[in-house]
Amino acid sequence: MDTLVFATNNAHKLDEVRKITEGLVRIVSLADINCHDDIPETADTLEGNALQKARYIKEHYGYDCFADDTGLEVEALNNAPGVYSARYAGDGHDSEANMRKLLHELEGVTHRQAQFRTAIALIWKGEEHLFEGIIRGAITEEKRGNSGFGYDPIFQPEGHDRTFAELGDDIKNHISHRALACQKLAAFLSTSSAAL
Ligand code: IMP
Repeated sequence: MDTLVFATNNAHKLDEVRKITEGLVRIVSLADINCHDDIPETADTLEGNALQKARYIKEHYGYDCFADDTGLEVEALNNAPGVYSARYAGDGHDSEANMRKLLHELEGVTHRQAQFRTAIALIWKGEEHLFEGIIRGAITEEKRGNSGFGYDPIFQPEGHDRTFAELGDDIKNHISHRALACQKLAAFLSTSSAAL
């Protein structure tokens, strides 16, 4: 079975992606290839950042690999925070500060539609491929629920009456932006003769 580096050390993401790609490729982390670099993420799009990370690993370590980048795109804010979701409230701020800022920006705004979007960049057998996963929903008026991370307590996916943080990881990981992008990656790997 081929080995593919996932440019992350996030145990939760590794676990999720390994489940989806089980039997297709062996996924290893940055720590597994002894990469402890601060990989640059300076592009102004999700696709650009994902490609930048994947290209960095290919260039410096020589492995086929993939990388992801995710943003929360809020319609009333011209798709902000988008690629800046992690540092919306400024560098060094946490999810609580990011959510506080977003709820503040949306005070009095009734149009609360938003989407999470994940871009995955894959470098495989000398070629680059992009996969996208989107889940649409709305930003709630206040935080609800305790599970998950990031903006989960204030994002309610379409067709559900609970936030990601109330739905819990099992349900979220089936329907999430990242899961959808990973499923497309897995479908590609399963049809690529190299993966057989
Ligand atoms: P990353 O590209 O996966 O590191 O995501 C960038 C930022 O988007 C994170 O720091 C979170 O603030 C937010 N984010 C990404 N995925 C999720 C999610 O599944 N739920 C809530 N917030 C997320």
